[in-house]
Amino acid sequence: MNRLLIVDDNQQNLYMLQMLLSNKGIQVESASNGTEALESARRDPPDMIISDILMPGMDGYALCRVWKEDKRLKNIPFVFYTATYTDPKDEDFALSLGADRFIIKPVEPEKLLSLLLETRNNFKTGKPVAAPKPAEKDEFYVGYNSVLVRKLEDKMLQLEEANRILEQDIAERKLAENERQKLQEQLIQAQKMEAIGRMAGGIAHDFNNMLGVILGCAELALLWANPTDKIYALIKEIRVAAHRSGELTRQLLAFARKQPVDRKVLNLNEAIAGMLKILHRLAGENIELILRSGADLWPVRMDPSQVDQILTNLCANARDAIAGKGQVVIETNNVVLDATSSRQPEGIIPGEYVRLSVRDTGCGMAKEALSHLFEPFFTTKEIKGTGLGLATVYGVVKQNDGYISVISDSDKGTTFEIYLPRHTGITKKDSTPVPEASVTHGQKTVLLVKDEPQLVNLTRMMLESMEYQVLSAVTPDEAILLAETHGGEIHLLITDMVLPEMKGRDLFKQIKNRHSQVRLLFMSGYTSDVSDTKGLLEDGEIFLQNPFSMDDLATKVSEVLKKPTMS
Ligand code: ADP
Ligand code: MG
Repeated sequence: MNRLLIVDDNQQNLYMLQMLLSNKGIQVESASNGTEALESARRDPPDMIISDILMPGMDGYALCRVWKEDKRLKNIPFVFYTATYTDPKDEDFALSLGADRFIIKPVEPEKLLSLLLETRNNFKTGKPVAAPKPAEKDEFYVGYNSVLVRKLEDKMLQLEEANRILEQDIAERKLAENERQKLQEQLIQAQKMEAIGRMAGGIAHDFNNMLGVILGCAELALLWANPTDKIYALIKEIRVAAHRSGELTRQLLAFARKQPVDRKVLNLNEAIAGMLKILHRLAGENIELILRSGADLWPVRMDPSQVDQILTNLCANARDAIAGKGQVVIETNNVVLDATSSRQPEGIIPGEYVRLSVRDTGCGMAKEALSHLFEPFFTTKEIKGTGLGLATVYGVVKQNDGYISVISDSDKGTTFEIYLPRHTGITKKDSTPVPEASVTHGQKTVLLVKDEPQLVNLTRMMLESMEYQVLSAVTPDEAILLAETHGGEIHLLITDMVLPEMKGRDLFKQIKNRHSQVRLLFMSGYTSDVSDTKGLLEDGEIFLQNPFSMDDLATKVSEVLKKPTMS
């Protein structure tokens, strides 16, 4: 046997067989279907043909039939070599067509070779195979059809299975690719936030120092300038601008996690309850504010004012996202995340957390917005947006080793979820150094109420430089609310004698209801008031005349604080 013709539509099968046989010194030709094989054989007849069954164009059976009818070819042995999924009937049918051998894959190479040789020898010595008689043609087609249909069905099943495996494989690859891409994006996002944070922190820090100088100079200049001077109004403008810039840099510092913090162990439910009134007012009448406090909430350790920052910013955003009527749901609960929990927020370390979520029924946000949400100055609000709200929240959460995630859907609104680590009693040293100004001298807290915001600021600054903790308000309502929601003691109320809405003394009485130790210091704006107010002073009441020097203020405050509390 010198030349062999192999027919198979599968290139891999062809290659394998070709390699195998040519290693045994046989010259191998190949064809990928019956038509090609016939053409090649008629051109140059081989010593034997080995054919697959199912092939496009002319299949193996049709080829065998033509082969055995062809005068030049019928004396060349025809061997079927076919894959699994083979029915005994296939062999019967093949032999009935005149095939000389029917070999089912897989066969060991040696065995295959010996089978082929055996076939050739049989052929040489043996019975010539009769070609099918023309009378049997109908029979042939019936058998041929049923065999082919069955084989096609098998092939279909095979293909379907292969397809299923392939689809599964593609899906798995896609999943892995998505996961990889997500991790990559997460990394880029984290690096970006880190870089922006560093830049914002650097700018805010240097800027704040300069602002301090601008503000200090303006304050002093105002103290010395005559209010009737033209320059007075100009300096006031400088001061207003400096204050506004100060607020901006404060938010940037919060984002950069450089905000001074005074951490306390606190229960988030209580902290939120204390803020509800403010939040209600912030949300407005059209928004239903619902609080769902989780039971037995674990404590967290953070600066209470940071809870305020988180809630006011998230609620303000929720309000802005709601056109007309809507709902904001604030919810708390304990969460344990183990290694198998779905990783939400992304990258969260397994552990015990207190979760705070704020959900609104607002407009939701576009995908584009989601990727820039926490960057400072990212805003979609044309008029009143600063883009610093979420940057502040982000900074606060990170400063407290927490995590934040957002789910937004234009139909269902937005949910922010914040995970704060459970406080377990072991107090870690704070990562942020507490600047001196926030360490309160003697832990005395002053509530400052005056209807002139700029004077409130000046006084606040002076008091803070004396290391008092200062709460300030421009209306009695705001002051009462502050007194109600402030976690600690209030030691001193500094107020105008007469506020537009209320007398200072009445305000004092209301605050005393809650803070029994509070003392009172009156102040007033203009000398012309003094004569009027003097008459109103009761026994033991102390009055500070405006404008005052820092010394005046320091002396009066410590004088009042030394006095026994008034009944
Ligand atoms: P600002 O409120 O000043 O625009 P923020 O940092 O608070 O800045 O928010 C940034 C942007 O994020 C908003 O302009 C808005 O597009 C989007 N956003 C924040 N919160 C929500 C929310 N609850 N619903 C829809 N969009 C929101
Ligand atoms: Mg905002």
